[in-house]
Amino acid sequence: MIWNENKECMSLDERRVLQGRRLHKIVDYVYHNVPFYRTKLQNMDITPDDIRTIDDIVKLPYTTKQDLRDNYPLGLQAAPQSEIIRVHASSGTTGNPTIVGYTRKDIGVWSECMARCLTAYGITREDIISVAYGYGLFTGGLGVHYGVENLGASVVPASTGGTEKHIRLLKDLGITGIACTPSYALHVAESLEKYGVRKEDLKLRVGAFGAEPWTDNMRHEIEERLGIKAYNLYGLSEIMGPCVSYECEEQNGSHINEDHYFPEIIDPETLKPLPYGSVGELVFTTLTKEGMPLLRYRTRDLSSLNNEPCACGRTLLKMGKILGRSDDMIIVRGINVFPSQVESVLLSMPECAPYYRIVVDRVGNVDKMIVEVEVRQEYFQTGFDTLTPITTLEKKIADALKSILSISVKVQVKAPGSLERCEGKTKFVIDNRKLV
Ligand code: ADP
Ligand code: ZN
Repeated sequence: MIWNENKECMSLDERRVLQGRRLHKIVDYVYHNVPFYRTKLQNMDITPDDIRTIDDIVKLPYTTKQDLRDNYPLGLQAAPQSEIIRVHASSGTTGNPTIVGYTRKDIGVWSECMARCLTAYGITREDIISVAYGYGLFTGGLGVHYGVENLGASVVPASTGGTEKHIRLLKDLGITGIACTPSYALHVAESLEKYGVRKEDLKLRVGAFGAEPWTDNMRHEIEERLGIKAYNLYGLSEIMGPCVSYECEEQNGSHINEDHYFPEIIDPETLKPLPYGSVGELVFTTLTKEGMPLLRYRTRDLSSLNNEPCACGRTLLKMGKILGRSDDMIIVRGINVFPSQVESVLLSMPECAPYYRIVVDRVGNVDKMIVEVEVRQEYFQTGFDTLTPITTLEKKIADALKSILSISVKVQVKAPGSLERCEGKTKFVIDNRKLV
């Protein structure tokens, strides 16, 4: 099934014309409404009239997360405040969070793109979908919610937390589809037995999973344990939220809604565009967004683009799995964590030496993050080797980390000099999850 055959199966030439027209319009719009872009374009001697076809996109400047931070909170907003009807924010990582405002039209485009995804997963008006992504500033919950409503299926806004209650809802309401992070889906699968529910007691048949990287092994495990088909859903708040790309029944790459979000792959070092098939950093230009349009936004996600025809009939380009990040961000239980955040918390505590490691593991399909940090010599000498002060200090650090990262972290305080010293670049993060 295809939600919008007209757009999803458009001929390639026709789509390029549409993209070119939209690109010209969006460049003209930001030129006149966002001083940041006007200055950038003027410095490069570019006017909107220089952008006529989609191939002209390479003339445009990139936008980075740092640009968004520097212009916090609303510096890149193009629409007047009276036109903004919704605000989301992506996690406040190294300082300012990114605030994204949406106009009524943006919410409409989002719901349209989301309905395309859900339809590709085989979801219809007959389905009952539990949205177990977080509701709130995070785009996951409300983004999928509006898509389900637009499609006309029933939405159960379960949100996160309360697995027992959720499993009960799944069973009692005969819920047929679930949208959440893949790790939460596995957690639900593992918890069924604990609450005395068998997968045969459920009517679940389909899942929309994203917000964090996952592997084919995880997919098989989720499919097997819950008795469902598990599909990928990708997106990011800066561009819109979930709905940027989605898998079809072929489950082999995710179609990008490229009539709205134009993709490129670039070399993160040289910043040169790369051909289809090469792995590099994904870059998106929002072609129709009014609230906060972005030109050539560098996602930091590593992936590749594939323009081979897909058996499903959609002509939209496909992107491969996210293979990693070109920065050092790690995603733990769906939450973005930058080592620099951990470092700033540790260094704000007098007891901590600047030697630490972050170890991430997946235990029973749940991400666990351990922070190992050396204590300073001064604190080590003053009776530190008795058990109570260590646990007290570990708890103090864990609490401080939790308030900044919003996730629970296990802290292990180490003796001075006990962590390995590296020559050259220190490896602060050890990710044992084998996600790719
Ligand atoms: P926040 O910044 O608030 O955590 P975002 O939703 O903006 O939330 O995070 C977007 C990032 O999440 C993406 O850039 C990507 O790294 C990751 N992500 C989202 N969906 C997927 C997916 N299906 N597979 C892998 N990574 C994903
Ligand atoms: Zn397809």
